[in-house]
Amino acid sequence: MSMQFSVLASGSTGNAIYVEAGEQAFLVDAGLSGKQMDKLFQQIDRDPAKLNGILVTHEHKDHIHGVGVMARKYNLPVYANERTWKVMDQQLGKLATDQKFIFEMETVKSFGGLEIESFGVSHDAVEPMFYIFRSGGKKLVLITDTGYVSDRMKGLISNADMYVFESNHDVQMLRMGRYPWNIKRRILSDVGHVSNEDAALAMCDVIGDQTKRIYLAHLSLDNNMKDLARMSVKQTLESKDMPIGDQFELFDTDPYTPTVLTAV
Ligand SMILES: [Zn+2]
Ligand SMILES: [Zn+2]
Repeated sequence: MSMQFSVLASGSTGNAIYVEAGEQAFLVDAGLSGKQMDKLFQQIDRDPAKLNGILVTHEHKDHIHGVGVMARKYNLPVYANERTWKVMDQQLGKLATDQKFIFEMETVKSFGGLEIESFGVSHDAVEPMFYIFRSGGKKLVLITDTGYVSDRMKGLISNADMYVFESNHDVQMLRMGRYPWNIKRRILSDVGHVSNEDAALAMCDVIGDQTKRIYLAHLSLDNNMKDLARMSVKQTLESKDMPIGDQFELFDTDPYTPTVLTAV
């Protein structure tokens, strides 16, 4: 069963990623309003009523803003780990008990021929995690909202066919920018967000002979630009003798426009 996916929206204004394989369809996070989420689904010509569930990564608003609304409107199951449920339950509003499912960190769930594995990231939420999708021998890795990429994470996410990889900020732009120092320190910390350069260094360690596409995601509106992120990642990869274009390509994501639905 081949997978298809689209990064519906990416960035601190709201995140959502759509993944389908055969009859299975999942949304990872729904960080925009219900209305905006509906519009994004229209743009990729898919019906949110056909989702099998929403997988939540962590409780930050840019990841859960539309989860409650969508779950109620389309009667969808919502998955998150127990600690995340504790802190987000109130924020989602009223959901039926049989809509709430536990998906613990470092576990695997199977839905038809689609396998979904969760893994922990380093971020200032109670128990943040991201997801790896496997189907038909292919592997799709989603990883954003992490201050760094540990060796453990690298082991789990290595040699995927496609990545949605955080490339949050340019360190120089962040340092020079208008953010107050405590916010800058948070972003730069081990539980903040990964910079363009650190993302590229981590990519060097995980890209394998299967890797074809890398989507740069969760770009900061204030401290990054698409061209800068792409150039910075490209340069770092080239300096490690991993040129773009031979085997794999870089792609942009956008806060408001979905990426083209693509087969993994
Ligand atoms: Zn976050
Ligand atoms: Zn985020």
